[in-house]
Amino acid sequence: METVLDQATTTCTHCDRAIPTANIDLHSVHCARNLEKCKVCGDMIPKQHADDHYLKVHAPVTCSLCSETMVRDILDIHKGENCPQRIVTCEFCEFPLPAIDLAEHQEVCGNRTEMCHLCNKYVRLREIQNHEVNCNRIQDNGAGSSRDERPAERDGSAPRRHQNEFPKGRLLITIAVTGLAVILGVGSIFYPRKAGTSNVH
Ligand SMILES: [Zn+2]
Ligand SMILES: [Zn+2]
Ligand SMILES: [Zn+2]
Ligand SMILES: [Zn+2]
Ligand SMILES: [Zn+2]
Repeated sequence: METVLDQATTTCTHCDRAIPTANIDLHSVHCARNLEKCKVCGDMIPKQHADDHYLKVHAPVTCSLCSETMVRDILDIHKGENCPQRIVTCEFCEFPLPAIDLAEHQEVCGNRTEMCHLCNKYVRLREIQNHEVNCNRIQDNGAGSSRDERPAERDGSAPRRHQNEFPKGRLLITIAVTGLAVILGVGSIFYPRKAGTSNVH
């Protein structure tokens, strides 16, 4: 058997496989008796399993979700990508629902508004991604001219001036107050827009 590769082969007319010429007669008998070619996929199937093979591989199947009948080969794709009853999630609220209802749901869901955390305006959910990109750009260009930042700076700097006038005996208190003032000052510099919002309200 070590010389299999060197042996001459003959193609079996029944299964189309290359069979060592020395074995072809024996093979042909067994092949014709035991195997048959599947009319659908062309595979050689043991005759006693031919019905099984057809049922398992080629018989139409019914989608358990939508009851549509189809060739088994496409069932997985159908359930994963095409079945109208497959479960998908809304891109806006991530609620799971049948695909057939998605368009109608998203039509309504995408029209809901949410406050943009950059400009505090209400924006439709379907537009919010786009909006946030543009909104960022506006914020960068307009930085420094915001009216909202001025009251915040005043609040932060007023206590600091007082601290400098404290006598040295109050150093500890000064440090404590300075710390507090720094926290307040930093807070109002970091969150000028929130300060602006509370002014509006
Ligand atoms: Zn054969
Ligand atoms: Zn087949
Ligand atoms: Zn289906
Ligand atoms: Zn939704
Ligand atoms: Zn915005």
